[in-house]
Amino acid sequence: MFSYFLPQRAKSISQALLQSNGSNAIRACQLVTFKEFETLTLKYCLVCVEEDIRLFGVAHWHRNHQVSGVEACADHKVWLIHEQLPERPHIKTLLLPSYSTPVKQCTELSFQFAKFTKQFLHDISESNNSFNQSELLSELSKLGYILGNKRFKRQKLTSDLFEFIKGLERTSATLLPCSDKDYRYLSYLLAGNVSQHPFKHLIVLFWLNSTLDIGHKIQTKNFERNYGIEDKSELCQNLLKQGNSMAEVRRITGKSKRLWQ
Ligand SMILES: [Zn+2]
Repeated sequence: MFSYFLPQRAKSISQALLQSNGSNAIRACQLVTFKEFETLTLKYCLVCVEEDIRLFGVAHWHRNHQVSGVEACADHKVWLIHEQLPERPHIKTLLLPSYSTPVKQCTELSFQFAKFTKQFLHDISESNNSFNQSELLSELSKLGYILGNKRFKRQKLTSDLFEFIKGLERTSATLLPCSDKDYRYLSYLLAGNVSQHPFKHLIVLFWLNSTLDIGHKIQTKNFERNYGIEDKSELCQNLLKQGNSMAEVRRITGKSKRLWQ
């Protein structure tokens, strides 16, 4: 996630991880430079624990549960449980999720954010793409938040985002804008010249996705990069093979019927 949203740091992050050097990886992610932060814990879902034990004989930590700001399980619509990290070194023998407290259903918005994050993480893991600032600005422009030449309707943008995410229960307040007038929260992200915490990008994309229903558009862009524009007919054929209707394929690709006939 850090590599995707901080492409200029991706190589350093990758090298540090390949060398199993956690300190260098954290340094490369520039964690300490962000205003947004959260207390680091391990997170797990009790229903996933039951399933893991049934299927594999042992529970394990799920990657998509560990994303900053995610507090729900994308598969079971329940709150995640926080487990305190042991003292350094954090990796301990038999440090596994435990089955202890009752399962509690989460709220719809937190569930939707978890589902969005899981899919997003999967998509970026499958490709070598990195974050494209101009695509974000293009989507914001469609919603009328850009006045031209990188001038934004900061007040409306911040207030609309704040209104949408205030139902995001349990996500640490230190990751979110502090009010509907916290204009600085989005300023640097929109300017694109200062590294920002991945959560900030993620929450804005989630909001745009929910507002514009651009999930398919983001996916299409990834497909276009993977297949190449000239392979559009192949993309259409593959989408049809995956069980999508003609109308759905037309909607996803934004192309007319004759392109794949
Ligand atoms: Zn679960």
